[in-house]
Amino acid sequence: MSRRYRAAVVLPADPACSLLRDAVVDVDDNGRITFCGTASDAGDPGDALVTDLSGILLPGLVNTHAHSPMVLLRGMGGDLPLLRWLQEIIWPVEARMVAEDVRTGMLLGSIEMLRHGITTSAEMYFHAEQVAEAVLTTGARAILAPPLMDLPGMNWRTMLSDIDRWIDADGLRFGPSDRIELGYGPHAAYTLPVEALRMTAESAAARGALVQIHVAEAAAEDTKQRAEHGSVPKLLDEVGMLAGRTLAAHAVHLSDEDIALFAARGTGVAHCPGSNSKLASGIARLAELRAASVAVGLGTDGPASNDDLDLWEEIQLSAMLSRLATKDSTVLTAADAFLLATRGGAEALGRDDIGVLEAGRWADMVHVDLDDPAFATGLDVSDEQLLSNLVWAAGSRRVRDVWVAGEQVVGDGESLRVDRAKAQAGVAEAAARLRRG
Ligand SMILES: [Zn+2]
Repeated sequence: MSRRYRAAVVLPADPACSLLRDAVVDVDDNGRITFCGTASDAGDPGDALVTDLSGILLPGLVNTHAHSPMVLLRGMGGDLPLLRWLQEIIWPVEARMVAEDVRTGMLLGSIEMLRHGITTSAEMYFHAEQVAEAVLTTGARAILAPPLMDLPGMNWRTMLSDIDRWIDADGLRFGPSDRIELGYGPHAAYTLPVEALRMTAESAAARGALVQIHVAEAAAEDTKQRAEHGSVPKLLDEVGMLAGRTLAAHAVHLSDEDIALFAARGTGVAHCPGSNSKLASGIARLAELRAASVAVGLGTDGPASNDDLDLWEEIQLSAMLSRLATKDSTVLTAADAFLLATRGGAEALGRDDIGVLEAGRWADMVHVDLDDPAFATGLDVSDEQLLSNLVWAAGSRRVRDVWVAGEQVVGDGESLRVDRAKAQAGVAEAAARLRRG
């Protein structure tokens, strides 16, 4: 059955970041948007079921970089420097994880994201079949990049052919309303031989798949690659990886030439200001990336390093850090930052079917109600002030209802599909076992 959602305010995330008063979103019975505009411009609803919403309706947020099953490791060694944290805490525990643990972690991670208004996440984690299963259970949407690494006990050739086979068997996108998209997750240039990067690029290009890869996250990680190839982006370009759909996660330490190369090749960037701050990796050059018209989205990164899966914090941090880095408080407005988390994320992932409320895209939507001091000044304020209240003050606090492809998956702030208390108990049990070893 087709539906009409009528809200006091709709934020479609169009390029101008318009704010529509008394507006509607029409959704067909496949879960696609057929109209988004003011109520006065909308046609007769016909026999559509009409839902009235008192607050702000916006597109589901797009989290462009996450390792969400790591909710199992949240808070462990959180104040250690990066390498000690990985080597002493994270990797030993991850080595004990089994497939079922990943499903348990992703189930709760996915619920947490939906409750914060994130409807799509780009995930890089082991046991991706379990990640997919968990996402299909909560009703969210995900772009999966099973990781490729070259470490003892891991063979990148096997990992690569496993992904090839999976895509060839199930297709690039599958599940109800294309909930799952498959891609490739070469971990980083410094954890893989050049041949692995080249062959991954070929496999992905042949299938039109997205490659997600960590790029220039910490200053010291890629000294060898920089010495031999100039920079990691140059290396990725040499092996053909930037010719296809590629998402560079973090991309903190980029030169002007690297930025120009990303712009020329259409490479997307997942900007992760929360994780980059906590791990003291640096401040990515967001203003320069935007000035060069690179497609930039926001990413939480894994909950073991950020630590919550709340993209509203990245919205705020992206603007604040960019202003600090440039000493210019006008360099990124509330509207700019909001667009990074919505249409920007979709662009960075090479997806034209999510991230914006417009005809043809999936009805992935979020309703924020106004019952909060952040909105005490009411709706009868300027568009700019209302957007400020949402972005700077309210954040995720009043996300009440969430839809994916027109199906409501969160109601009154809770998952309508999964018992959150049970999902939390599952994580407690798995985490205790992993800690014991
Ligand atoms: Zn990462």
